Order: sequence, then C-alpha cells, then structure tokens
Amino acid sequence: MFQPIRPFQAAKPDNLQQLSAGLFAGDALCRCLPLGESAAWVSGTESDGTASRFLVRPFPGDVAGEDFFNPLEVHGLAFEFAAVPHTEVGFLSFARRYGFLGVPRATDENPPQYLGECWTDWQDAHAKIGAAVNTLRYVESGQEPVELRADGTPCLGTARAGIIGDINENLKSVTSMRVVWSDSKQRHELRAVPLTLLGAMWWQVARLFVGEVSYTRCKVCGKYMERGPREAGTAARMANAVFCSATCRSRGHRMRAKAHALRSAGAAISDIAKHLTTDEATVNEWLVS
Ligand SMILES: [Zn+2]
Repeated sequence: MFQPIRPFQAAKPDNLQQLSAGLFAGDALCRCLPLGESAAWVSGTESDGTASRFLVRPFPGDVAGEDFFNPLEVHGLAFEFAAVPHTEVGFLSFARRYGFLGVPRATDENPPQYLGECWTDWQDAHAKIGAAVNTLRYVESGQEPVELRADGTPCLGTARAGIIGDINENLKSVTSMRVVWSDSKQRHELRAVPLTLLGAMWWQVARLFVGEVSYTRCKVCGKYMERGPREAGTAARMANAVFCSATCRSRGHRMRAKAHALRSAGAAISDIAKHLTTDEATVNEWLVS
C-alpha cells in the first residue's frame, strides 16, 4: 500500500501537460493507466494555495511497460463510475481499477514526486456522470415527459435537453478530432477520439444517448456488454449474446440446469434466485428455456 511521505503541492499549470502526457499517450487511441495499489488520498494544496484533498500516485519516471488499457474497450464505464459511492473510498476503488479521470497535476518539485487529482474534480465529474446516467435510464424507460411547442407539436423533454448540454460541454474539453485507421473499413477515417478516462465516459454516454449503441449485462457476472445500433435489425444475434465469455456461458448453463432441478423439487422462484445469486426475471427465463 502506497504511503505518501509529504502533502501534495500542485505545480504551476505550465509544465503539467508535458509532465503527465505519458499517462494519456496515444495518437489515435486513448490510453489509461490503472492506479492499482499505488494510490491514496492525501491532503495538499492547489498551485494557487487552496487546500484540498488529492488522489495521488507516485510520479512514473518511466511508464513504459505499465499496464495501459483503452477505456473504450471497457463497456459501461460511465455506469460503473455512477454506481461507486460518492466518497474518497468509492473514488479510490474506481481509480485503482481505471486510473485518473483527466490530466493529473504534478507536485512542485524536480523531478516531481507525485501526480494527483483534487477532490472537487472527482466530485464534480461523479455528480455529472451520475445525472447523465439517470437521464439515460429515464429516456430509455419511455417515461420522459415530452414538452409541447405553442402549436401543440412535441419537442425535447427537459431531461433530454439537459443531458445534451452536459454531453457537449464535456466532449468539447476532453475529445479531439483525429485521422485514424479503421481495420473494419480498411481506410483512414476522421473521428472524435476521447483523450482521457472522463472523456471516454462522456463518449460512451453520448453514443448511448444518440442510439449508436446500447448495453446489455452478462446474465452471470453482470459485466456490461455493448450491442450494436438499436435499429440495425440484429435483434436475433443480440438476444443470444447474454454471456460475456465462454466461462460465464458454461456457468450460466450449469445455473439453468440447477434452476430446473430446484424448481422440480418444489422451490419458490424467489428462493431459486437467492440460491443462484441472480434475479427472479432471470430464473423465469431459465425455466422456460
Ligand atoms: Zn460474465
């Protein structure tokens, strides 16, 4: 477990971008670095002297070989972030798995000892992503109130109008236009690419909002899985994609067999769900298949 030896003192902004560039490297792909065990919350001060709490990790002198990942390959990141408690412990658990949200500040030393992000940035990002996720669920559920124009024709609901503002504000600051190679199309394309973990989350929220993708969850482990466009007519293939991996698929089949056996022995649906740590709807699906 990482034990910082001194308070975090943020450096002046001019050289920060350069110092921490290695953490969000990549020309075409966003790359993030999980903080792992080498992360902790410490007290410190901003470059203007404001006291705050900072989520820090030791400054990586050489990050080559560290375990970078592309956040766009982790589906449902925004949902996962929204679900962590709005506390230092909650944010730490998320950062250990996925890394800093944006470009962290470095300590005011040469060489710097730590990189860190302040509590207010995490708090603000968590509140906004949480609100966006709630709005997505609201819109998805079809319960969104629709407002009427003066002539009586429907226009955007207020929830929807709010999320568009947040999405655009965040995409503006955390994405960049890039020419990238598309393997599937075998040609170069112009694309908006998220530059940070937070940018990747807003990117995912935006794609969900416009209906470019939707998510389903693995019936066994609950992991989010991205599905293609809603309107693409691929419903049959989607319906089968209920497990995230071969491991979960075989475990799922064993659970279904177990559900049938328990039901034959007279167990109630609720007890079967509890026994197999799943929900009653899933048990009912298993029993009819
Ligand atoms: Zn799974």
